[in-house]
Amino acid sequence: ESLDKGLEKSSQGFFDKISRAVIGKSKVDDEVLDELEEVLIASDVGVNTTVKIIERIEARVERDKYVNTSELDKILREEISALLLENPHSQTKNIDETKKPYVIMVVGVNGVGKTTTIGKLANQFKSQGLKVVLGAGDTFRAAAVDQLVIWSERVGVPIVKQNMGSDPASVAFDTVQSAVAQNADVVIIDTAGRLHNKINLMNELSKIKRVMQKVLPEAPHEVLLVLDGSTGQNAFEQAKQFTAATEVTALAVTKLDGTAKGGVVIGISDQFQIPVKYIGVGEKMEDLQLFNGEEFVDSFFK
Ligand code: GDP
Repeated sequence: ESLDKGLEKSSQGFFDKISRAVIGKSKVDDEVLDELEEVLIASDVGVNTTVKIIERIEARVERDKYVNTSELDKILREEISALLLENPHSQTKNIDETKKPYVIMVVGVNGVGKTTTIGKLANQFKSQGLKVVLGAGDTFRAAAVDQLVIWSERVGVPIVKQNMGSDPASVAFDTVQSAVAQNADVVIIDTAGRLHNKINLMNELSKIKRVMQKVLPEAPHEVLLVLDGSTGQNAFEQAKQFTAATEVTALAVTKLDGTAKGGVVIGISDQFQIPVKYIGVGEKMEDLQLFNGEEFVDSFFK
């Protein structure tokens, strides 16, 4: 239900636009498909994924000859579901509990909701009875460390930090070491999301990995890229840059409650073939959900 509420704006915007596109039309024809294409692009599904979806619908229209516009919702929903399910990881489980501690390294640019997502995740894990340790690896911004400390207090989990300006890799090392010593289940390490240039980003992230591997050779088990779902094409661009700089294993798409552009989830999942694992649908501690492709499409099409 909270998913439906969180995606209210996306689904409303989407349906209003589709309804407008088919007004006075009974048959799905080229004109309707052109309108639909515009609606998908305006919802930030992205050009490549939009073209893919339109081609699939065209093929159906071709095959079935007469397709009523009243069926367009249903057909679109089927094609989008199929697309999401083609991403082999569209339904992921939370963490692998056989890996202990399970280390999640969180990447993304400032302002996308990285700190909030870490806080929400810590809360989820803790309420599942898991022992969590946070690492304040964004040492370039005092505010980032302060915010994460606030979240650690709110959730009630320990945090490892150093002084501002210290080496993020050193924070990662300390955090994993402390988690191992405490026999923790999950480690969540923040990093600085500075996209100043690709080589620097690559070097920074690989150093953090390399140094934490001195404590735990198989870490990190997850590299979670946080993207702001309300920024549309910027989110695509950031996904491109981070995936080029490091091996991103999962995505968290935030702020889907405040946008009519939830289509970004569909496009990003399709284009990067990296599982969208979490979606943020509000500012509160509980407003983070494990992504489920089918549920998402259901809510989107409510
Ligand atoms: P960071 O700079 O990436 O660490 O971003 P923050 O975690 O500080 O978040 C930036 C702002 O976005 C804050 O005001 C958060 O409350 C807000 N925010 C984060 N996630 C969500 C979300 O899913 N929905 C909404 N509406 N706001 C969010």
